[in-house]
Amino acid sequence: MKTFDYAKADSPEAAVAGGGRFIAGGTNLLDLMKLQIETPEKLIDISRLDLADIEERDDGGLTIGALVPNSDLAADPRVIAKYEVLSRALLAGASGQLRNKATTGGNLLQRTRCYYFYDTATACNKRTPGSGCDARGGFNRILAVLGTSEHCIATHPGDMPVAMRALDATILTLKPDGDRRRISIHDFYRLPGDTPEIETVLEPGELITHVELPAPVEGAKHIYRKVRDRASYAFALVSVAGVVKVEGGKIASAALAFGGLGPMPWRDAAVEAALVGKAPSSEAFAAAAEALVADARGFGHNDFKIPLVKRTLIACLRDLTA
Ligand SMILES: Cc1cc2nc3c(=O)[nH]c(=O)nc-3n(C[C@H](O)[C@H](O)[C@H](O)COP(=O)(O)OP(=O)(O)OC[C@H]3O[C@@H](n4cnc5c(N)ncnc54)[C@H](O)[C@@H]3O)c2cc1C
Ligand code: SF4
Repeated sequence: MKTFDYAKADSPEAAVAGGGRFIAGGTNLLDLMKLQIETPEKLIDISRLDLADIEERDDGGLTIGALVPNSDLAADPRVIAKYEVLSRALLAGASGQLRNKATTGGNLLQRTRCYYFYDTATACNKRTPGSGCDARGGFNRILAVLGTSEHCIATHPGDMPVAMRALDATILTLKPDGDRRRISIHDFYRLPGDTPEIETVLEPGELITHVELPAPVEGAKHIYRKVRDRASYAFALVSVAGVVKVEGGKIASAALAFGGLGPMPWRDAAVEAALVGKAPSSEAFAAAAEALVADARGFGHNDFKIPLVKRTLIACLRDLTA
């Protein structure tokens, strides 16, 4: 590990004024620093900031502090009752010990698990811009089939952010100049294009302070299904987060997001349009699955993800509308 300066922040304002890289739970950043993939010169420890509360708002939604541990968020009775998809997604991630350390803000920003990103002997445009991408012609079994570019085919590895995308979350931030931003999760992540090292719209030194969830959809069913190589402690090959409401024999609303498929938690309006207003049926489910993979492209080892996610989505839709 390279040497670095370390400071503890006692307020969000002091954190953004510190001119360093934030460390929250450290479960991703420290691993990357040990491998010298990330080499910040200064770490600002934000773990003691007063951002670890979950509060109900008057509009029926929740405001979640950026430092709420994943375990606490998953176990919160309001989350279990009103946003079951989020609780399930959190519990599908990592291990109990990691979830106790991992935070809401850090989980939104964890970096890809592409093997080549972690192996400094290989070419990786995300780790070293302009160096190439050894994953394209290499072992790409866990990598993306949607939203890729010729420069990067990595997936976003998270579970919680997939549920947050299905729930239309908003990310609240504080910038070093004192400005505050509200960023819809739909605009938060970036496709790789020719700058795969830039993964979100956050500016340097911008702190996530909270995540807001809108009021829940009354009467909707929730699901989070994660297909992985082992029953626990493994990242998603594909995952589906769904919030679907059936009324009068027809699908009244459908919010569906996907993990393991693309460089960001994936959501596609065409998938939901294939369902809303229809009676639940095998034909409607198949149309939604086809819409999801219409632009999908495998790179050899990961071709299996395309039929796998279609089957997983159809199974989820059956459960959500039963
Ligand atoms: C063995 C293992 C298995 C795992 N399995 C899974 C899994 O199955 N599913 C899953 O979703 N995750 C999994 N994880 C990842 C884990 O969830 C993340 O490491 C964790 O969520 C990151 O949160 P953190 O608070 O530790 O972030 P940190 O490591 O502290 O920070 C991560 C990044 O976020 C930045 N950051 C942190 N907080 C803020 C903030 N408030 N504002 C701005 N920037 C911030 C940091 O600067 C850093 O760049 C696994 C991790 C390990 C080690
Ligand atoms: S897929 Fe992206 S992260 Fe993986 S080696 Fe290629 S550029 Fe790097």
